[in-house]
Amino acid sequence: MKTYKICLLPGDGIGPEIMAQACKVLDALARRFDIGFEYDKQLIGGCAIDATGQPLPEASLEAARHSDAVLLGAVGGPKWDSTDPNQPRPEQGLLRIRKELGLYANLRPVTVFDALAAASPLKPEIIEGVDLMIVRELTGGLYFGMRERFYDEDGSGPDGAKGQRAYDTLEYREYEIERIARHAFETAEKRRGRLHSVDKANVLETSRMWREIVHDIASDYPSVELFDMLVDNTAMQLVHNPGQFDVIVTENTFGDILSDEASMLSGSLGMLASASLGDGVALYEPSHGSAPDIAGLGIANPLAQILSVEMMLRYSLDEAQAADAIHQAVAAVLAEGWRTGDIADADTPADHRVGTDQMGDLIVERL
Ligand code: NAD
Repeated sequence: MKTYKICLLPGDGIGPEIMAQACKVLDALARRFDIGFEYDKQLIGGCAIDATGQPLPEASLEAARHSDAVLLGAVGGPKWDSTDPNQPRPEQGLLRIRKELGLYANLRPVTVFDALAAASPLKPEIIEGVDLMIVRELTGGLYFGMRERFYDEDGSGPDGAKGQRAYDTLEYREYEIERIARHAFETAEKRRGRLHSVDKANVLETSRMWREIVHDIASDYPSVELFDMLVDNTAMQLVHNPGQFDVIVTENTFGDILSDEASMLSGSLGMLASASLGDGVALYEPSHGSAPDIAGLGIANPLAQILSVEMMLRYSLDEAQAADAIHQAVAAVLAEGWRTGDIADADTPADHRVGTDQMGDLIVERL
């Protein structure tokens, strides 16, 4: 029997509540399939600051490094909000673990479960069957380039007027584009074999290089059909015809904006998982935050966390069967009409409105 070591970082707010459901699901998978899970639970975020003064204690980082995968809940809350730049902040823990593990690829799937099509702001016929993945480059591009803001003494304004100037630079090295593109091709190979490489090659030099590199390596992935699309057109196509997309790969800033746009297709934050991958241990977490407004009430939707477990099984542990089983269980529970508060509507009968724990139990029953 194969046993996987999972580093658990529940974090703050609803993090521990939804993480408990993820563990129940993992234990159920262990009973059904010939696999085992060993958990190493550690601190991150506000709870880590309270216990150790650090948002990411060394013990947490070490546990993450020595695991097969890291499963994170969420960090943050009003208790640790401070305008004092010298105070440690919960999100510093997140930024540090991503940096230390070298996580340069962010995967955000958008799956519209048929039963939830009405929750989308788009018409059901546009949204039906949407199942796409955005692969965003996470450690380069515009967010990490050289930037400066200064007062221009040379007077480069109209009629020699002095004033402020600022610039940000978008820079990529060949290896950075190649490694994210390979992740995207490999992801497309495991899905429906369609890859849209999104750029602004009609204007930007980095985009022209991006396009060349992506095309150069495409021959290594003969089962994947490659399409180029300009980022402005992609923004439009995501609401016009999202069903055409399988995998989208793009630059850091483009990916940040497009993944937020795409997240609204599903209509609920409580359903969206994410993965951050590098060349070693990867990290899986829901896309939402710690929801301090509902923490401790037992009403948080655990499905984004449970769908993060699905991604972990698929991308880090290569347990596709177990991953599929989670997906089917979530689809079945939703099709039967079970809803946490965030995805319920006026048509949801009172006896199908459930809390965090019950939703976890329903998924476990299906497994
Ligand atoms: P949030 O995602 O925590 O919450 C936004 C709204 O969505 C809230 O009304 C919340 O109740 C609801 N919500 C979120 N997840 C839900 C779920 N699983 N089930 C039901 N409802 C859910 O965003 P926010 O309120 O802007 O931030 C709260 C805290 O989380 C802040 O401290 C912020 O810094 C932090 N945060 C952390 C992460 C992370 O850990 N990756 C990401 C975003 C925000």
